[in-house]
Amino acid sequence: MTANPTQPAPQLSIVIPVYNEEEGLQALFDRLYPAMDQLQAKLNLRYEIIFVNDGSKDRSAGMLAAQFDLRPDTTRVVLFQNNFGQHMAIMAGFEYARGESIITLDADLQNPPEEIALLAAELIKGHDYVGTIRANRQDSWFRKTASRAMNHLRQRITRITMTDQGCMLRGYSRRIVNLVRQCNESNTFIPALAYTFAANPTEIEVKHEERFAGESKYSLYQLIRLNFDLVTGFSVMPLQLFSIFGMLLALGSGTLFALLLVRRFVLGSEVEGVFTLFALTFFLIGVMLFGLGLLGEYIGRIYQQVRERPRYVIQTVLERP
Ligand code: UDP
Ligand code: MG
Repeated sequence: MTANPTQPAPQLSIVIPVYNEEEGLQALFDRLYPAMDQLQAKLNLRYEIIFVNDGSKDRSAGMLAAQFDLRPDTTRVVLFQNNFGQHMAIMAGFEYARGESIITLDADLQNPPEEIALLAAELIKGHDYVGTIRANRQDSWFRKTASRAMNHLRQRITRITMTDQGCMLRGYSRRIVNLVRQCNESNTFIPALAYTFAANPTEIEVKHEERFAGESKYSLYQLIRLNFDLVTGFSVMPLQLFSIFGMLLALGSGTLFALLLVRRFVLGSEVEGVFTLFALTFFLIGVMLFGLGLLGEYIGRIYQQVRERPRYVIQTVLERP
């Protein structure tokens, strides 16, 4: 990265993934830039905003380019050739960020840009990871409940302490971002990955608003996949639990067999409980298929990883020479 001599490197980089957000982008610009200019004036802190267009099929890319023309001093735009997912977009943002601190933000205004000041203050205090908790989360009841349950389960399995894993408004130090960039994982969850490197993390409460416009870009299927990434990417405990369950089952059925054998000799032959047997068998087949699927989740990820394909393809980067 060649620094422009007249333009010293920024101290704070804001990274924003954008996917089909044409309806809300203008509102984001209208709130984000004044908030950042204010922060700059107050703390005397140079900033840059990096938008990563994750292969949007609407006018988002054009709107980002127009915004770049308007504010080339503080704006940079990375354009992906295709849709590679939110976390890959953030990864690319990290690649281009030059700041000493980096803050990630969603483009849909669910995280109010005015809250960036709170995160910046924590980073200045010396915390290298600033997690956030959405006060009064504005999402559907289903999302909130499912997310709370998954958060709890993930916490038990991965030992990563995040009160609210889903909030993407987060702050990282340069050291952590560099470490995250060294991880060449094809499926990842950046807040959790970054947390594993944090030496002095903190968590603060931030406001949460309803999506300004448009719909969530995550389908139920994608949310499930994301949660699998979170669990399998940070722990092999599910596999171990399965082995333990298998052992217990083997032990149990061994005992049952011995008991039945004794009954056979004491009471003579009996044909009973055929349907119980069916039920048991189907239950066990279900468990086995689940285990197989779980194993497949890990193997699929290994396969993606060993192919070592580029994780994302950048079409162009709009930045001032
Ligand atoms: N996003 C992205 N690529 C995707 C899906 C989403 O870059 O494939 C961006 C999206 O534009 C937004 C952020 O990631 O800035 C969060 O997405 P969304 O608000 O749809 O997720 P939710 O808030 O429902 O979890
Ligand atoms: Mg959102």
